[in-house]
Amino acid sequence: MPEPDVYERVMELAKRRGFIWPSAEIYGGVAGLVDYGPLGARMKRRIEEIWRSFYVLREGFHEIECPTVGVEPVYVASGHVKGFSDKMVQCPRCEEYLRADHVAAAHGVPNPAALSAEALSGALKELPCTACGEELGQVKVFDFNLMFNTWIGPGSQRKGYLRPETAQGIFTDFPRLLRFYRDKLPFGTVQVGKSFRNEISPRQGMIRLREFTQAEAEIFVHPEGKRHPGFARYAEYQVPLLGCCAQDEGKEEPVRVAMKDAVEGGLVANEYVGYYIALTHEILVSIGVDPARLRFRQHLTTERAHYAADCWDAEILSGRFGWVELVGIADRTDYDLKAHSAVSGVALTAYIPLEVPRMEKRKRIIPDMKALGPKFRGRAKEVADALVKADPGPGGVEIDVAGEKISIPASLYQVREEEVEVRGEEVMPHVIEPSYGIDRMCYAVLEHSYGEDMVEGEVRRVLRLPAAVAPVQAGVFPLVSRDGLDRVAAEIASTLTAGGIFTEFDESGAIGRRYRRQDEIGTPYAVTVDYQTLDDGTVTIRERDSMAQARVKKDALVATLRGLICGDIAFSSLGP
Ligand code: ATP
Repeated sequence: MPEPDVYERVMELAKRRGFIWPSAEIYGGVAGLVDYGPLGARMKRRIEEIWRSFYVLREGFHEIECPTVGVEPVYVASGHVKGFSDKMVQCPRCEEYLRADHVAAAHGVPNPAALSAEALSGALKELPCTACGEELGQVKVFDFNLMFNTWIGPGSQRKGYLRPETAQGIFTDFPRLLRFYRDKLPFGTVQVGKSFRNEISPRQGMIRLREFTQAEAEIFVHPEGKRHPGFARYAEYQVPLLGCCAQDEGKEEPVRVAMKDAVEGGLVANEYVGYYIALTHEILVSIGVDPARLRFRQHLTTERAHYAADCWDAEILSGRFGWVELVGIADRTDYDLKAHSAVSGVALTAYIPLEVPRMEKRKRIIPDMKALGPKFRGRAKEVADALVKADPGPGGVEIDVAGEKISIPASLYQVREEEVEVRGEEVMPHVIEPSYGIDRMCYAVLEHSYGEDMVEGEVRRVLRLPAAVAPVQAGVFPLVSRDGLDRVAAEIASTLTAGGIFTEFDESGAIGRRYRRQDEIGTPYAVTVDYQTLDDGTVTIRERDSMAQARVKKDALVATLRGLICGDIAFSSLGP
């Protein structure tokens, strides 16, 4: 039997210790759906809180919460009804449905996501099925829309979809958000919640789920204002970047570039995109992604959406899956607002006052009421009101009156040229979107923090989770469960919990076993109460990573542990 790879080891530990479980396991489980067990749910929540500490607290972007079910026009406008599909193929031998580009990629076909259905079909002809291993032969590649659809209300009233991303709720709330932010640009809004994609044959555990959690920020900026007001924060911040030209030249290694140089040199399109690439790097490292296995890859021109000005993926290196996207950061220009404006008929623009008003020559229509009256009778006023708002054309204008298009010849109005003062203008904001996949982040943190070392002739499995992410921050053990040690330890555990430290009291089994258990769930500190505690009021703290121990006063434990957890105190400073 081959040795289990890192994915299998991490998932075995995650299952056994209550991080991740197959969903509906008693019914055989469902591909693409997972449950977070008690420790996983807490770790995930803490990762989301770290994300919020950056976006909501520091950036000042308000969070909104929209339904996960949306009506059809939303997804017609966003392009998901027409274009949110993957290319699928069915193996003629085992009848398994497969993602055509994934089969091609697994056999080294370069950039298969950019290939047409015909080209993919040709590329797959002599390749083996990834499920049964038989040659696929002449197979048809077809589009499969990834959205789950449903009906809203009984009796098939309105067609609806489970949202495939959280972003659309923010776009459809744009007019209210603009008012909330007092009609000023830029502003940002975030949403953290479930998204749904009916992925074809998801075999990658937490990487490809059918229901997953996204954390998305939509930052609405003036189309000509892509200099970030806080860019100085990250001007010198170095990020490993793999640009599209480097990829075209066959390079795979990113280069570390200060964000200022990346933007000035044109590698990154603008300061906004650069700022959120750097911020993403900071978040990912702070939750426990290994910086040596993290890169930012720019989309190739063939994979980038046609409307996007620039697009980068934060990718982590996984032992089994290779480079995996955790976050997409894009300058989406005005694509989303334009699309929703066209389908809803609502103007999704912001009125921006000019710093210096300017004079402009304008042509204005003066309706000839004497001529309009007899022609339109009771509707003459409505027609005149619409005419005043229209731009005069050479031979007449077309106006819209209560949904009816009416052509008005130039003989029914006069055109006056006048100079007007322009104090502001309507602009359609551009959108910068950093889009995070929380489940992939959880998996990346588990894999990158997983380690095995030999301790006293035994394999020690350890999750080196940052204290800010660990589901338990301190384990508290009595050396033995008698002579009052258990009572003192239980009191200490209550004091720590009351002090805001996630604590677990454990009195069962040999002390070595209890340390191993906490190591496996990533607990950074373990506190042991022994006989000396009864004499002098001190306890030992053991640090997970170095396995070093120090004695501290139990009365100072909350302050000491808090300092260790937030990094203000170094463990080595505690003495022996
Ligand atoms: P992929 O190409 O891997 O399917 P994507 O480019 O379609 O991903 P986006 O639409 O940019 O993904 O979504 C933003 C983030 O949401 C991704 O970076 C990823 O972390 C997460 N995500 C997308 N699809 C899934 C999924 N099926 N399961 C888990 N997370 C996902």
